[in-house]
Amino acid sequence: MFELSPNTHYFSEDHTAFRHALRAFVDKEITPNVPAWEDAGRMPREIFKKIGDMGVQGVICPTNLGGSNGDFFMQIVVSEELSRCGAGGVCASLGSHSIGNPPIVNHGSDDLKTRVAMPVIAGDKISALAITEPGGGSDVGALRTNAVRDGDHFIVNGEKTFITSGMQADFFTVAVRTDAQKAGHGGISFLMIEGDTPGLGRTQLKKMGWWASDTAHLTFDNCRVPVTNLIGQEGEGFKNAMMNFNAERLTIASQAYSFAEVCYREALAWAQDRQAFGKPLSQQQVIRHKLVDMAMKIDAAKTLTYDIVYRHIHKMDPLNVHIARTSMAKITATDTMQFCADAAVQILGGMGYMQGTASERIYRETKVLSIGGGTDEIMRNLASSQLGI
Ligand SMILES: Cc1cc2nc3c(=O)[nH]c(=O)nc-3n(C[C@H](O)[C@H](O)[C@H](O)COP(=O)(O)OP(=O)(O)OC[C@H]3O[C@@H](n4cnc5c(N)ncnc54)[C@H](O)[C@@H]3O)c2cc1C
Repeated sequence: MFELSPNTHYFSEDHTAFRHALRAFVDKEITPNVPAWEDAGRMPREIFKKIGDMGVQGVICPTNLGGSNGDFFMQIVVSEELSRCGAGGVCASLGSHSIGNPPIVNHGSDDLKTRVAMPVIAGDKISALAITEPGGGSDVGALRTNAVRDGDHFIVNGEKTFITSGMQADFFTVAVRTDAQKAGHGGISFLMIEGDTPGLGRTQLKKMGWWASDTAHLTFDNCRVPVTNLIGQEGEGFKNAMMNFNAERLTIASQAYSFAEVCYREALAWAQDRQAFGKPLSQQQVIRHKLVDMAMKIDAAKTLTYDIVYRHIHKMDPLNVHIARTSMAKITATDTMQFCADAAVQILGGMGYMQGTASERIYRETKVLSIGGGTDEIMRNLASSQLGI
């Protein structure tokens, strides 16, 4: 519905051309395969390579690493177009690089950029981000997985959980405590841990939704990790994790309103076609109002997200305002998704409860976007602290 015409102040011809190419790819290579991938509980590796060949994983990465150095609206295009398949698990799995790779792209050594970031951008390898622990995900400063220096290595012990692409990943960007003396944020660093490191265990987790995405519980039992795998400065992991979260939250916002839009489109088509009491459902005012409410919320969430991205690209806001509005956009968009999924299932009636409709899947997938990447409550805490409320 709210297709913006090309060359608006948000999207250039380059964005639009890429959007059209990706849309055609999603229609042909992704959407028809979603049921099979959901049954398998994971995505095939070939699809990572195919989207790598299209440049999807590198849209905002530097050209010397194989990326195309686009602005964040390119990431928005990727997120919106992939979401049209209506399967959050597909987007999460194909998107785990977008949280695993940036710490290396932005802070990693040249060696890590070559060994890890480049093959991930090319789609040859899969990366994942591992921050959350069984003891808690919201309170990142309390994480306990520890990395103790032993000559040229760190010895890593601990557990991570709910890790997207955790079963398949070749590389993990792992938040660890490198300084046991420093409680809280100070002693945290990022380490790149290879998937075949001895002592690394993986268990697949079953979920309410996101079935195409392999989500894992990880255990680290005396894993020896070279000191050269440290990403950025020791002790700067928390700061780098927080910077990573801003981009992740805008991406989640764009996914959420895009899934809401999938629900809207499905419900609209159904309401125009389905006959009840001698006329299409869409001729019932209460149904039309529901559809307008959906459209209204989608437009608001989308417009807010675009505005934040635009103002960030043009350096129009201080960082605290950017962080606060990003938190608000995530909540606005995920609330919109929940509202639209609920309304769409209701409009579809019994059919909305059946597998095979996008609305049924999206209804099961609403909660995860209000939890992952920072819960609603943490977003509100963050917005209030950034704005001094
Ligand atoms: C499918 C899925 C995929 C995921 N993928 C990844 C991944 O790839 N990498 C990764 O690191 N993590 C991942 N996560 C983890 C996710 O980021 C965490 O679940 C999330 O941050 C919340 O942490 P938690 O589950 O430990 O909940 P908790 O932190 O234990 O919070 C539980 C509840 O308490 C509330 N709460 C906590 N503190 C406060 C407070 N101060 N004030 C008010 N309320 C509070 C929370 O909002 C929440 O409602 C994933 C999660 C899911 C479900």
